[in-house]
Amino acid sequence: MKVTKHKKARKYLSFYINNFGFREPLLVLIDGTFCHAAYKARIQIEDQLKKYFQSELKLIVTACIITETENIGGPLVAVCQLLKKYLVHKCGHEKQPISGLACIRAMTKTCNYIVATQDRDLQEWICARAGIPLFYLHNSLVPTLVQPSDASVRAAASKTQSKVQVREIDERRLTSLKKKEGILVTNEQTSLKRRKKVKNPNPLSCKKSKKKNNKVVENRDGVQDHGVEKKKRKRIRLPKHVKEHLKNNKQITVC
Ligand SMILES: [Zn+2]
Repeated sequence: MKVTKHKKARKYLSFYINNFGFREPLLVLIDGTFCHAAYKARIQIEDQLKKYFQSELKLIVTACIITETENIGGPLVAVCQLLKKYLVHKCGHEKQPISGLACIRAMTKTCNYIVATQDRDLQEWICARAGIPLFYLHNSLVPTLVQPSDASVRAAASKTQSKVQVREIDERRLTSLKKKEGILVTNEQTSLKRRKKVKNPNPLSCKKSKKKNNKVVENRDGVQDHGVEKKKRKRIRLPKHVKEHLKNNKQITVC
């Protein structure tokens, strides 16, 4: 299988998962025509489908599909034996079986199935509806998940639109409830809060003011110095007894 084909299959599958609630294990509803084509091409349906979807899946049939194939008989006896191996979902027509086509139409309304069929009428019916993935063997050989139909794409778009609208309505309801309960903070209050929060700039991030540096300083010689202010000399405080001692010494020298 080519990589591009595989990527496409994953893309289409995620579309159904995201928009129509498909989940693993995927349920693949198989009819007699698909089983017959796979049997002729000697395709191991379960293995091929698991490889193709890279997901857990279950192969499903109904009593109506088995009965229809059984009634044809002849070359389809082996196909019927194959169908009986798969999981039989209750379709509600057990007492009065209907055609496989009609049964599948009814089944897709109640549950998310990927429909595997070679029946052209059923394929057309599926493509005209939204949310039903169609799987078939292209040229009775190549497993192919058909691109989501226009109906599916439209339905998915309207779903997203309605989701957005619901979210908007919910938000409006929530704000009106908050107003009623007094929880809602008005714009003025929030602006006041913000104003209060305003603080002085971080002093570490600011440049030091240069005013002090520009002071005109007169040095000892009386010359004006416009440069950096000179550091004041530190006064050394002498203890009293030292001062007196010094004074006495001066007096002695003068005398
Ligand atoms: Zn049925």
